Amino acid sequence: MPPEGRITRFAPSPTGPLHLGHAYAALIAAQRAGAGQFLLRIEDIDQSRCRADYEAQIYDDLRWLGLTWPMPVMRQSTRAPAYRAALARLAGLGVLYPCACSRADIRAALSAPQESAPVHGPDGLVYPGTCRARPMAQAQPDDALRLNLRAALARVPALSFHEAGPLHAPLQPLNPDWMLEHVGDVVLSRRDMGTSYHLSVVVDDAAQGISEVTRGDDLFEASFIHILLQALLELPQPSYYHHKLIRDSEGKRLAKRDDARAIAQFRSDGATPQDIRLMLGL
Ligand code: GLU
Repeated sequence: MPPEGRITRFAPSPTGPLHLGHAYAALIAAQRAGAGQFLLRIEDIDQSRCRADYEAQIYDDLRWLGLTWPMPVMRQSTRAPAYRAALARLAGLGVLYPCACSRADIRAALSAPQESAPVHGPDGLVYPGTCRARPMAQAQPDDALRLNLRAALARVPALSFHEAGPLHAPLQPLNPDWMLEHVGDVVLSRRDMGTSYHLSVVVDDAAQGISEVTRGDDLFEASFIHILLQALLELPQPSYYHHKLIRDSEGKRLAKRDDARAIAQFRSDGATPQDIRLMLGL
């Protein structure tokens, strides 16, 4: 670790109560910060699913766990101008196109007889490219904007990232053929939000000066999209630390709706922060 420590973040979406998996993610991020800084970011771009009471509970649960962070916290709902600027830059590079396809359109295109078996990528079915030839000049207000992955990969030389976590090799080269098959043209601006998870996280990690992104291994593939976006937008590349996911006794991933594992529930049952750390193996 550099003597000054790392800058890490915990970036929850206030769409449900924090559960054990979130506690693990937050505690790992704080631990990896060392003598550096642990930041909090509220990922509330999906205003239809975010709730103020969940956000208040996040602060309360994290403080109870013993975490502290500088104020004010970054909230993605206030960052629209930064996302618009990044999209304009990507449009200028010729790597965006407008897309009007619904999920049903995508499923229908992928079930056409000439198509090979649909592939599931980090965001669901890999997009079949129906709208890829549409120019940005024809974008309609309620279109989504997608990354033209082939065009994007052609613009940046061989990319890789440094993985600091225990689950993967330290050097992670980006394989363009694998990306084209398994990731495809991801959405960078959703029609109802003017941004997407991938775009916001890249723009905000850079704005917050994050030097190491710690996140669950379910987002490992998303990290490849993010290093590509960092290269296109000429943003510094952080290192990555993907950690294991906390699972329930049947081995299933914990979900936000799994209220039985909510930190608030453990608290009201009389657990201490130390009990939570022990349960998580920390
Ligand atoms: N907001 C994301 C989540 O709730 C995590 C952020 C990230 O690491 O990219 O899972």
